[in-house]
Amino acid sequence: MIYIQLNEDNFEYDIYSLVKAFYPKEEVKISTEPVPADAGLLFSMQVNYSDDVLTLDGRKIDIDYSNRPDTKNRLKLAIYESLHERTGKDLPWGTLTGIRPTKISLGMIEEGASDSDVTAYMRQTYLTSQEKIDLSLQVSHKEHELLSRIDYDNGYSVYIGIPFCPSTCLYCSFTSYPIGLWTKKLDDYIDALEKEMAFTAESCKDKSLTTIYIGGGTPTSLDAEHLERLLTLVDTYFNTADLLEYTIEAGRPDSITLEKLQVMKNHPVTRISINPQTMNQKTLDLIGRFHKVEDIHRVFGWARDLGFKNINMDLILGLPGETIEDVAYTLSEVEKLAPDNLTVHSLALKHSARLNYDKEAYEDYLIDNSQKHMDICLDAAKRMGMAPYYLYRQKNMAANLENIGYSTPGNEGLYNILIMEEKQTIMALGCGTACKFVTDHGKTVTRCENVKDVQLYMDRIDEMIERKRERLREDLKWL
Ligand code: SF4
Repeated sequence: MIYIQLNEDNFEYDIYSLVKAFYPKEEVKISTEPVPADAGLLFSMQVNYSDDVLTLDGRKIDIDYSNRPDTKNRLKLAIYESLHERTGKDLPWGTLTGIRPTKISLGMIEEGASDSDVTAYMRQTYLTSQEKIDLSLQVSHKEHELLSRIDYDNGYSVYIGIPFCPSTCLYCSFTSYPIGLWTKKLDDYIDALEKEMAFTAESCKDKSLTTIYIGGGTPTSLDAEHLERLLTLVDTYFNTADLLEYTIEAGRPDSITLEKLQVMKNHPVTRISINPQTMNQKTLDLIGRFHKVEDIHRVFGWARDLGFKNINMDLILGLPGETIEDVAYTLSEVEKLAPDNLTVHSLALKHSARLNYDKEAYEDYLIDNSQKHMDICLDAAKRMGMAPYYLYRQKNMAANLENIGYSTPGNEGLYNILIMEEKQTIMALGCGTACKFVTDHGKTVTRCENVKDVQLYMDRIDEMIERKRERLREDLKWL
């Protein structure tokens, strides 16, 4: 265990995340209690805050304690240097532990900073590597170009959550329930969604709708009839004619049929996802995705035959038992299909995932991810004519890397950028979803969450709509 003793509770989460990034497998405890006399202690650190000096293990750093962001940066730099000395390790993102590194570079670019200004700032303030600064700059310039076409302040986007999947993947931490348990209540669920759609359409009638994203879970877990009902309701309540993008995360190939693809094609859906995660059968079996690699090829072929011109594929690096050769094989198979977007995730071990709480069962499996794995994806993306257009990070990511969205020109997922950079209000409908109310051109973001339990969501739908009405009135002044 690594024990960090503070003289008062402050910046605990930032300290925890940074220490974990150096020691992902070690237990880290942060407390104002004295360091325990524990033989199992790997080491301890002591942090003392006062008005004008911060002390880390006796080393003094001048601070202005009333300036929180600056104090946080100085504290993280001091901890980073100490841990770097202990381990000899450098972290690719330096002291950055938040999920949106591009917010920094995009914000600076929007204010007129040059690339060298951004580089110097990220290097000095966060010790970010040149490679990750270059990636941030590339992504931010693309985002800046795409966002300049969008009226954030007078527009909004809609997210609709379908919290059902054919089965639960080993690494899943999303709001997802096996569809088999809910087949008799799907109409009730869509009834509740309809109430939210009616409320949203009425409340936002003076705003323009930029994008719609139907995600989950797996929206194509719905049978064709319920999918048709859902998409017809979307057409009824929203003006889909002027949308810049309408995405359905079809997701798992075992949920997709020709009939469901045809249903989507009959509505103004512009972008779909067919997510293999891996093209290795042994891994699909291990992670609980009960389909064959051939199914991925087949449903992708159906989607192309029906005329879908913007198809995303999601991959995960660091899946249990996967070698770097397995990753290279996956990319070679993906290249044969030539999708329009490729989203590469680094496996993030979440608390609620079976892979975490049942970890003894998987401890013999290699869990490997590195910059080399990321580079295999980057090279494949380049060969497919793609460039990175959005990125984000998560807690407990394998190798402390990032998730990157690549796209061929003109097929970038705008919703992904809007949600990640928090530039526009997102009205989120459905169980386990969260609205983001954005004001001051992205400077203020508030959230309003729906409950995560499907039955409670249906039972308490009116109450949740009232909460949204209140937030729209108070936070956005839209009502
Ligand atoms: S498809 Fe996604 S949401 Fe569904 S179980 Fe797998 S990880 Fe969870």
